[in-house]
Amino acid sequence: MSRKTENTGFICQNCGREVLPVTNGSYRNHCPFCLCSLHVDNLPGDRASDCGGIMDAVDISYKPGKGWQIVHVCRVCGHEAKNKVAEQTVQPDDLTPLLEKMKEEGRGSAGRNKARKGRED
Ligand SMILES: [Zn+2]
Ligand SMILES: [Zn+2]
Repeated sequence: MSRKTENTGFICQNCGREVLPVTNGSYRNHCPFCLCSLHVDNLPGDRASDCGGIMDAVDISYKPGKGWQIVHVCRVCGHEAKNKVAEQTVQPDDLTPLLEKMKEEGRGSAGRNKARKGRED
């Protein structure tokens, strides 16, 4: 359960790039390049899920006190999770692809459910 143990590097299963552990005292749980995560947690950091599906970054939201969080949705089961944006570290999150996607879809952080409709994969 210790969050310290979660700060490990990995190879992204979506884009195949090598991801290094963060250097900002937090822990790495998604790819800074494509922002994809893996569905391994039921609650953040618990590693209690055996789903293992790739989770796409679909949205970003701001929580006072917590800062910016990326909203991830599992491709396999639809599980949704929020993860802190990685900043002030090696390989900080590149939010450009997500912001571009949101812009293309013409939505802000309220339109999440609308965007999910019509995606069949
Ligand atoms: Zn990736
Ligand atoms: Zn899942």
